[in-house]
Amino acid sequence: MTYDYDLFVIGAGSGGVRAARMSAGYGAKTAIAEEYRVGGTCVVRGCVPKKLFVYASHYGEDFENAVGFGWQVTPPEFDWQKLVAQKDKEIDRLNAAYINNLKTSGVEIIKDHATIIDRHNVQVGERTISAAHILIAVGATPFTPDIVGAEHSITSNEAFHLEGLPDSIIVVGGGYIAVEFAGIFNGLGVETTLAYRGAEILRGFDNDIATHLHNEMEKKGVHIKTQSDIVSITPKDGGYEVAYKDGSRQKAGLVMYATGRVPKTQNLGLEAAGVACNEKGEIIVDAYSRTNVDNIFAVGDVTGRAQLTPIAIREGAALAQTLFNNNPQAVDHSLIPTAVFSQPPIGTIGLSEAQARANYDIDIYRTTFRAMKHTLSGSDEKTMMKMIVDCASDKVLGLHIIGDDSGEMIQAFGVAITMGATKAQFDATIAVHPTSAEEIVTFKEPS
Ligand code: FAD
Repeated sequence: MTYDYDLFVIGAGSGGVRAARMSAGYGAKTAIAEEYRVGGTCVVRGCVPKKLFVYASHYGEDFENAVGFGWQVTPPEFDWQKLVAQKDKEIDRLNAAYINNLKTSGVEIIKDHATIIDRHNVQVGERTISAAHILIAVGATPFTPDIVGAEHSITSNEAFHLEGLPDSIIVVGGGYIAVEFAGIFNGLGVETTLAYRGAEILRGFDNDIATHLHNEMEKKGVHIKTQSDIVSITPKDGGYEVAYKDGSRQKAGLVMYATGRVPKTQNLGLEAAGVACNEKGEIIVDAYSRTNVDNIFAVGDVTGRAQLTPIAIREGAALAQTLFNNNPQAVDHSLIPTAVFSQPPIGTIGLSEAQARANYDIDIYRTTFRAMKHTLSGSDEKTMMKMIVDCASDKVLGLHIIGDDSGEMIQAFGVAITMGATKAQFDATIAVHPTSAEEIVTFKEPS
């Protein structure tokens, strides 16, 4: 049986692009379908524009901090439209680079929605295309609860294209995207409330880190309302009024939902092909990203293994190795360094204290301090670092940092922890002075 392509990829985001380029590089005849913009969520409306906005929003505080270092700062002015235009320019550049990279790798790009017809055929616009292997890399899309007036709210998709900034906003959610956007809006001068229905923000993160971020965000002016469930949104006075479950009401210029992301599998034809999903709608795959249909694979957010770009990329690369380079590879999801670009940011890897306590006898090393910069800046911001060590093996099971540059730190410390470094090996490492990171190699007594 001959097919039009060896590999047909649905979705040109982080996972799909990596799988397509590498597969083509190994000689597979490859095409990729994209219904929106090549680059996917991370490049177009995720990690990249988000981080640009985080940088932008930090300047307000930086101008204030500069005074303590002798700078005279006239009240700075901020131009939202300029930021959006600058961001769009950068996204256009990246989009063009992704298209170019795919083309030079020999991947055919088809700009349309793709629907699977059966295990070897895909409908893309007017074309029916056959493929030996199909890769589903369609990502996820924001989930907004079905409450009265939900249509008046925005999600992160729209937040990147607002015509202007509101005077006030309620960001709903307690996950990393919610805290990041609350920090962005607050930093840009928007009166910001973070409303979350759980007991504490950042569920699943180490508790001390979550509490620390909660306190720091409040110090910076974000109003955090936990155990606050919104039941309706009504347009009012040119803005909106939300009603909470407890009967209280709050007005805001804008309401943004950041309450999780669900697999983007509508009109994908999964049923026609017989591809199985779990109760959350995530495609079920084995360690090699193979679905229950043996020539159909899935990588990235649509599988719900870990909704992060480097994971989608790693899964896409592993699949190309497995299918077309005679080198079967399974991705290890057990140890994932990651950052939250909250203000202050978080860097984390490994087990939280609660997870570690459930399975190990542990020592905790912890420090909270004012970073050197803030001795003059006048800011009361505190950095916190926490290391979790297995008493039996001395292995570092988890490292959690909240403070400036923690995302950068965790990438580097992540190498050591992925290699199985012990506390003694951290202690044997010479400190870099004066840095915040040196605290990690100078922990003395468990707390
Ligand atoms: P995506 O990148 O979402 O790509 C899927 C592509 O498939 C999309 O372009 C979509 O248009 C296309 N598509 C969908 N259905 C079809 C179809 N039927 N036919 C054709 N095309 C289709 N991750 C990090 O690691 N760090 C961060 O800081 C970070 N920040 C984020 C901030 C925000 C606001 C958001 C929303 C996400 C963030 N993420 C971050 C997550 C990251 O963006 C995703 O984990 C990553 O993009 C997943 O890659 P993917 O290949 O699975 O899917």
